[in-house]
Amino acid sequence: MQTKLLKITHTQQDEAILKEAAGLLAAGHLVAIPTETVYGLAANALDPKAASAIYAAKGRPSDNPLIVHVSDIREIPPLVKQVPETLYRLAERFWPGPMTIIMEKSDLVPYETSGGLDTVAIRMPSHPVARELIRRSGVPLAAPSANLSGSPSPTCAQHCMDDLTGRVEAIVDGGSCEVGVESTVLTLCTTPPTVLRPGAVTLEMLREVLPDIRLDPGIFLHLSDDRKVSSPGMKYKHYSPKARVVLVRGPLEAFRQFIDGQSGDFGILCFSGEESGFSRPCIVYGVKGDAASQAKHLFDALRKVDKEQMKLVYVRIADGEGIGQAVYNRLLRAAGFDEIRL
Ligand code: AMP
Ligand code: MG
Repeated sequence: MQTKLLKITHTQQDEAILKEAAGLLAAGHLVAIPTETVYGLAANALDPKAASAIYAAKGRPSDNPLIVHVSDIREIPPLVKQVPETLYRLAERFWPGPMTIIMEKSDLVPYETSGGLDTVAIRMPSHPVARELIRRSGVPLAAPSANLSGSPSPTCAQHCMDDLTGRVEAIVDGGSCEVGVESTVLTLCTTPPTVLRPGAVTLEMLREVLPDIRLDPGIFLHLSDDRKVSSPGMKYKHYSPKARVVLVRGPLEAFRQFIDGQSGDFGILCFSGEESGFSRPCIVYGVKGDAASQAKHLFDALRKVDKEQMKLVYVRIADGEGIGQAVYNRLLRAAGFDEIRL
């Protein structure tokens, strides 16, 4: 398959691009699209064949459900058994934006989309291109991250091209993603509601609307593949470069000493401004103390690790509040939970 690259230029030409991409989606094809979190691999969420094609293109395990993207709250009632009252309160505060909500699904949502579950994950993105494509295609769009399963999520069109050229009909290039990590996922199917994946909408923010919401312990714990998990995505190794990733927690001086004590071939991931003085190649991922900037650059940095053919990378990590939890969660998974505390 020839993959078309459709570039948004913020000129009159965008009209033709949006029309073409929406036409492909309405016809059941796969199109990688920009969102504010990461690029999504979109297809008609109500078409079992289109949803199955997403799993095939990504090499994604068929029990890992897809997030369904809508552009208007009025699109939700047909997709769910009933709309919980809390949905409206959450939507008012955090939508459009990087929050995904799990509810009981209606029969309209095929099991191909829900990964065989009786629940469905729904999000209303804020990215104008994503919103316009949902609206124009006339259907909700299932859109997991537009990467090959297991590899770091894509935060620009080049990442999608690297992974999916020849596997999808088109890639819409809308520039770099603002947030850089995937949406916060929470379920309203538990009492109290539970956060299953941390993201830019943080636990503290959610507590303003749902004071009793809790974090699923699986977010920061290693769960073996056969254990029952609340969110299938939790059990897979994720976001990882081919290199072995090891997290190293501690003050900068201790980190430098640790690195000096290591022999052999390896690389370093650290914060910008810290990279000089190391005897090994260094890639930066954002600013220390600025978790939002770390989130934005994390996946690009993890992809560079493979581009530079590092076999082992030590990642400097520091405590992070808010979205820092999302950064830590992604890094833990990239590292297969391998963390050294100095
Ligand atoms: P991705 O679209 O690649 O960002 O992954 C979607 C994430 O949402 C995965 O971790 C899924 O396991 C999770 N998810 C989607 N739908 C459900 C659901 N119905 N129940 C639990 N987790 C879900
Ligand atoms: Mg993903």
